[in-house]
Amino acid sequence: MPRPPPGVWAGVWLTVPPTEHGLSFLDAEYAVLARYRLGLPLLPGGGVCGRGARRGGRSVAWYDPGGEHAHSCVRNSGTWTRRHNHLRSQLAALLRWLGFEAQEEQVDSRLRHRPDVRARGFDIPLTHFEVYVPHPARHRTPAEHERWGRDPSAFIEGAWQHRLDTDYAGGPPADAPFALIPAAVSSYGAWHPEFARWWRAAVRAAAERAGPSASQPGLLWRSVGLLAVTLQRQTYQVLAGCAPARAAQEAGRLGRPLSEVPEYWRAAPEAALDWGAAEFDLPPPRRAEAREGADDLGASSRGHLRAAGLRL
Ligand SMILES: [Zn+2]
Repeated sequence: MPRPPPGVWAGVWLTVPPTEHGLSFLDAEYAVLARYRLGLPLLPGGGVCGRGARRGGRSVAWYDPGGEHAHSCVRNSGTWTRRHNHLRSQLAALLRWLGFEAQEEQVDSRLRHRPDVRARGFDIPLTHFEVYVPHPARHRTPAEHERWGRDPSAFIEGAWQHRLDTDYAGGPPADAPFALIPAAVSSYGAWHPEFARWWRAAVRAAAERAGPSASQPGLLWRSVGLLAVTLQRQTYQVLAGCAPARAAQEAGRLGRPLSEVPEYWRAAPEAALDWGAAEFDLPPPRRAEAREGADDLGASSRGHLRAAGLRL
């Protein structure tokens, strides 16, 4: 199945420096997610769904090599729900970190559906967020795939419009004294452009309020990084959620702090390093040296930060 091209902030998790737990991946997560991003097989040959429905003793659910099955297997829906809930919690926590008052699951009688997070703060109008993580395979026609291929945001914008029409009766009235913002991101990590605009404005407001010592790029980088990594770690749980038993036996270990070699250099498949070098103007892959406990991390850190500046 063709995939939508990478969209807004879709590459952030690939280059975020693992300076804290929430910005860090297990090796197994990183390796699987990088393969998924590149469209490389997660499980050559595929296998029987780990939660496979059985009829007459024979399993009928097949986990394809690319893991697309995990996004549409009804027995795996618990992992989609957990991904949504983790993202909702992370969004509320980051809003509070920026200085907003944020609450989850607040009913507003002016909205048909209960939004996920309500935020109030600075000079920004009251804002409701709906967290939504759609996957292209669940909304497919050939014409749609063709359209999504032309514009990096076409899929997430179309999916959100559909969600608005279905759950929010088209959205709030034009003169509503509040905003309904799509905290909508495709399962490939591309955020809705409207969310990105709102978030940039919120970070700007928070930085201005915090005074001259605040780093606006730093606030943006950490908050977007935490959202991106939260999504990806939960997407790993989706991919692993109904994987065949042998694939579930992967072992990982906690990501290392920045004083050690970042996962990027240890766990990424070669193709991801090549892609990253071309996409982000990163320094040449140093995998061999990194394995020996390289001390020249300055170069890779600079590359990460340069990539951050390019991407954000
Ligand atoms: Zn399954």
